Amino acid sequence: MIQFEGATKEYPGGVKALGGVDLRVEAGEFMVLIGPSGCGKTTALKMINRLVEPTQGRVLVDGKDVQDVSEVDLRRNIGYVIQQIGLFPHLTIAENVGLVPKLKGWSAQKRNQRVDELLELVGLNPAEYRNRRPRALSGGQQQRVGVARALAADPHIILMDEPFGATDPITRKQLQLELKRIEGRVKKTIVFVTHDISEALMLGDRICLMRSGKIEQLGTPEELLFKPADAFVTDFIGDSAKAERLLYMRVKDIAGKLPAGLKERDAGSALPCLAQDERLLDIMETLGDIARRGSAQGFLSVDEKGKPTGYVGYRELVNLLVDVLGETDPTQQGKAQLA
Ligand code: ADP
Ligand code: MG
Repeated sequence: MIQFEGATKEYPGGVKALGGVDLRVEAGEFMVLIGPSGCGKTTALKMINRLVEPTQGRVLVDGKDVQDVSEVDLRRNIGYVIQQIGLFPHLTIAENVGLVPKLKGWSAQKRNQRVDELLELVGLNPAEYRNRRPRALSGGQQQRVGVARALAADPHIILMDEPFGATDPITRKQLQLELKRIEGRVKKTIVFVTHDISEALMLGDRICLMRSGKIEQLGTPEELLFKPADAFVTDFIGDSAKAERLLYMRVKDIAGKLPAGLKERDAGSALPCLAQDERLLDIMETLGDIARRGSAQGFLSVDEKGKPTGYVGYRELVNLLVDVLGETDPTQQGKAQLA
């Protein structure tokens, strides 16, 4: 769908904004570009719709070098959402959203229908909002309109550059949840730039962590959380993502070796078993039950055939939750979490 091949951008004066990036974004994928300020995220994103041209290497969309596609065609078929442009202040919300369909020559009726459908999709009541001007909307509502506008002409690719960066934390969370929901319904290929790791972990199918114009690690949220490539990745993910780790942690991620003396064959009958691929978050209640029964010191992680693959001590689990959730008193708070 989108392919970077040795994509490089060098500005006069020798600033290498992008230093030879190879990256493939699959159709229907939600790819997050993340990294510290100045690492080249925006540069990479803008290469997809030719707002920036590579000085070396190339970017392909649907197998075609974007340099060979007219900029107008390219941009009409790729949605683009950024934080600063916002909306045209003198146009109504409906006119803002309907802009690209109009450029594409859709009839007024088809446009209006599409506008209402999209406002509905992003959680704005069309009757209430379609004739307002942008200034009569809150920042969060304007961002929703921005998303609707990017979806308007039904592009198969959407580029988003820190779209929720200017909104307050609560609105931001809400917009993230809605984007996730919308994405599930419209199934677009999305490239999303952020510097917020929680946002990246929540939204991305894969995350491309960049540093100084290069890719430091490319992987699923789980891979970045549990198999960080190096100290830079660990530092970048940092403590802020600890709670997020819990969202992705599976039984097998916390299971240790079977205790000595516990024969594999007997283990299953002696201890409660949990499927190794279950997410901890989905089995919190089960864990609580096990803890309350109190007879066992822990439980087994088992594979699809019921074969034990590891052991999780109750005590270690409490410590882990305490660590992840950042509680202060391990004995009291941790037990409260489980009970
Ligand atoms: P990010 O989006 O990750 O914060 P950018 O892609 O915007 O980073 O920028 C990457 C690097 O390229 C930065 O060092 C930035 O200063 C530099 N840069 C971006 N645009 C220009 C430009 N037009 N001229 C010179 N340097 C630029
Ligand atoms: Mg940027």
